[in-house]
Amino acid sequence: MTLDFDEGDELRDLRAAVADLAGRYGHRWFLEQARTGGTVQALWAEAGKAGLLGVNLPEEHGGGGGGMVELAVVLEELGAAGCPLLMMVVSPAICGTVIARYGTAEQRDRWLPGIADGSLTMAFAITEPDAGSNSHEITTTARRDGEEWVLSGQKIWISGVDVAGAVLVVARLADAVKGTLRPALFVVPTDAPGLSRTQIPMELVSPDNQFQLFLDDVRLPADALVGSPDAGIAQLFAGLNPERVMGAAYSLGTARLALDRAAAYARDRRVWGTPIGAHQGVSHPLAAARVEVELARLMMLKAAWLIDSGQDAGTAANSAKYAAAEAVVHAVDAAVQTHGGSGLSQDNGIGALVTASRFSRIAPVSREMVLNFVAQHDLQLPRSY
Ligand SMILES: Cc1cc2nc3c(=O)[nH]c(=O)nc-3n(C[C@H](O)[C@H](O)[C@H](O)COP(=O)(O)OP(=O)(O)OC[C@H]3O[C@@H](n4cnc5c(N)ncnc54)[C@H](O)[C@@H]3O)c2cc1C
Repeated sequence: MTLDFDEGDELRDLRAAVADLAGRYGHRWFLEQARTGGTVQALWAEAGKAGLLGVNLPEEHGGGGGGMVELAVVLEELGAAGCPLLMMVVSPAICGTVIARYGTAEQRDRWLPGIADGSLTMAFAITEPDAGSNSHEITTTARRDGEEWVLSGQKIWISGVDVAGAVLVVARLADAVKGTLRPALFVVPTDAPGLSRTQIPMELVSPDNQFQLFLDDVRLPADALVGSPDAGIAQLFAGLNPERVMGAAYSLGTARLALDRAAAYARDRRVWGTPIGAHQGVSHPLAAARVEVELARLMMLKAAWLIDSGQDAGTAANSAKYAAAEAVVHAVDAAVQTHGGSGLSQDNGIGALVTASRFSRIAPVSREMVLNFVAQHDLQLPRSY
């Protein structure tokens, strides 16, 4: 009998350390950064110094030697304290994982220590305006010119390029512009000539910004290519499954924050002589969301564990991301309703979670694309698209 749901002292201590750090910043601070054009770099730097951003990366490259379980726990706790660091979904989880696994010794030495200690943030760019969810149709092209690579194309909705030192760009090779995608991954420094960006105004109340990227004959050295173009899909999914797990962690932290705040308010607020939480119309949506959070959390930890133990995590990571997104949407909606009018006041901050939670159903992979995946892979239903 080996099944054990006890997280153990190490993970409990990790949760406590993150909660302690993020608690010194808090949701009010996070919202202030979002509303005043500030950044979360102070918290990012402190978390990096404390070893929290690189817990999943190899020790020989400055990481903690843990895995996705630890990294997801860190992000969940940051979110629960009101300070979700979105770039954790990208920098250590996607880029760090791919480079640690498929990078050359030189690439690992060059990029991983900075990703691990937070001194370098690496963004990730796969989505394109004309391809959208259909990443097989991306047209950003990499062609060989002597020893160099030349990249051309466009990307959209790319998070955190303003705080990133480099972007891991997914392109297709010029000799494979048609047919099945054989993606190739390139590290593109954000100051590379030919790379430009425009910020996309968003309705999200978030200090993290999104960008459209333009790659106009960006010249890169031979060693900008990570891994082998012949194994591109496997390399890409080595990063995308961790991304889904971290998407779930991001959602679950926010869901916990919303439920904690709503339950505290419902215990306290009286309008008919009893606390409003005594009314089942108030308590049941919160309780149902609590159950959904716990379900999604178990799924997230299982998916992270599958990744860490080298097993196929496609269904588990996608399903956890789906479940967590549904949980956070329901939790935030119930939390806003519980707060009545104050649920939408700026001072309260709960209303700011509405778009943040809603975005969980869209990115990093949409609810519909997860359901397509599960229908096709787990239920053996015909591919619908
Ligand atoms: C805040 C934010 C941050 C992001 N950060 C990044 C980032 O850092 N890097 C990056 O590369 N991308 C990023 N993205 C992009 C994100 O991954 C995409 O928005 C997402 O994959 C959906 O693609 P799309 O927006 O083009 O929607 P579309 O593909 O145009 O889809 C629109 C709608 O149609 C549905 N749909 C599409 N195809 C099907 C189908 N076959 N069956 C059923 N329904 C379907 C979708 O589910 C969706 O509801 C970010 C997006 C957001 C909103």
